[in-house]
Amino acid sequence: MTARNLFLLPGDGIGPEAMAEVRKIIAWMNEAKGANFVTDEGLVGGCAYDAHGAAISDADMAKAMAADAVLFGAVGGPKWDAVPYEVRPEAGLLRLRKDLELFANLRPAICYPALASASSLKPELVEGLDILIIRELTGGVYFGEPKTITDLGNGQKRAIDTQVYDTYEIERIAGVAFEMARTRKNSVCSMEKRNVMKSGVLWNQVVTQTHKDKYSDVKLEHMLADAGGMQLVRAPKQFDVIVTDNLFGDMLSDVAAMLTGSLGMLPSASLGAPDAKTGKRKALYEPVHGSAPDIAGKGIANPIAMIASFAMCLRYSFNMVTEADNLEKAIANVLDKGIRTGDIMAEGATRVGTVEMGDAILAEFQALSA
Ligand code: NAD
Repeated sequence: MTARNLFLLPGDGIGPEAMAEVRKIIAWMNEAKGANFVTDEGLVGGCAYDAHGAAISDADMAKAMAADAVLFGAVGGPKWDAVPYEVRPEAGLLRLRKDLELFANLRPAICYPALASASSLKPELVEGLDILIIRELTGGVYFGEPKTITDLGNGQKRAIDTQVYDTYEIERIAGVAFEMARTRKNSVCSMEKRNVMKSGVLWNQVVTQTHKDKYSDVKLEHMLADAGGMQLVRAPKQFDVIVTDNLFGDMLSDVAAMLTGSLGMLPSASLGAPDAKTGKRKALYEPVHGSAPDIAGKGIANPIAMIASFAMCLRYSFNMVTEADNLEKAIANVLDKGIRTGDIMAEGATRVGTVEMGDAILAEFQALSA
């Protein structure tokens, strides 16, 4: 079987602790299931700055470019708060996103039944929630030019950010959303502000046209992004896939994330365009949380976000759908048994550390894969 090449970038803080639990799963899949994952490992963030004076070295960038998928832990911490801006830890992640041209950010918001009571919403509103927010990641107002602050000379300054989208950028993110929907409940809700923004008008037109041309089997709905925010906290289960731009996606995905409880539970994927020859997309998988310096090195971090990110990698980079389903089911089963890290601890549950949580999920995954 051809090798499945994974490049691991554990990073700083709790990144390496969480990644170690994924490494155990990979080792078992290789040993028991002949999965043929070939892993290599590099440095990113503060640890890369300490070693090379850059947030990621050119050599590690080249490995990331060549891999089938990159697994990323977390970067940053107080030790590097004062390093020059261009080499700050986050610059490593930004370079990866830019050089790999990862334009589609996938943020699932899944509420495990066992954690429904941990949500800020009523349990019946979130129990069984399973939505996927697809955020455009490389365009829009965060990158548009001009982006300036000008001194007007009269005691006033003027700040300008530019929201800009071209047709092809909207077409390709809409395509990802429709394709993902086909593997789920076949329904897409596109969110923009066409009532007050020209980019919203174009977004709406291009999504509608893309749907008509190639994906008319998928149900499509449009919603103004502010109304979408309201609906997300009023009745989140009405959604399957939500597709939106960089700015609205940044906010709406954080809102959706919090419906499901702790930061330690949330995975994400960032995908690029399919390669013209191989059809493979460049991809990076990472937990939503940061390096959690307050708990790093204590062995208490929740590894679920990292493990669930690996499940996304199995699904989207390697089409290992059964394995991804089993790994996600293993996480749900472990939670059902009342096994919890500190961040998701509940009365009557058993409190465990990072390694025990990883072991419990692996054991459950092995049982489900038998
Ligand atoms: P954070 O996500 O690291 O932590 C926020 C809180 O959530 C902390 O109390 C932390 O202990 C807790 N937490 C996070 N992940 C957890 C897990 N897996 N298990 C248990 N508890 C968990 O955010 P922050 O404190 O704002 O940032 C800390 C550092 O991480 C900063 O240097 C920041 O720049 C960086 N950061 C990196 C990324 C990334 O690598 N993608 C993302 C966000 C923040």
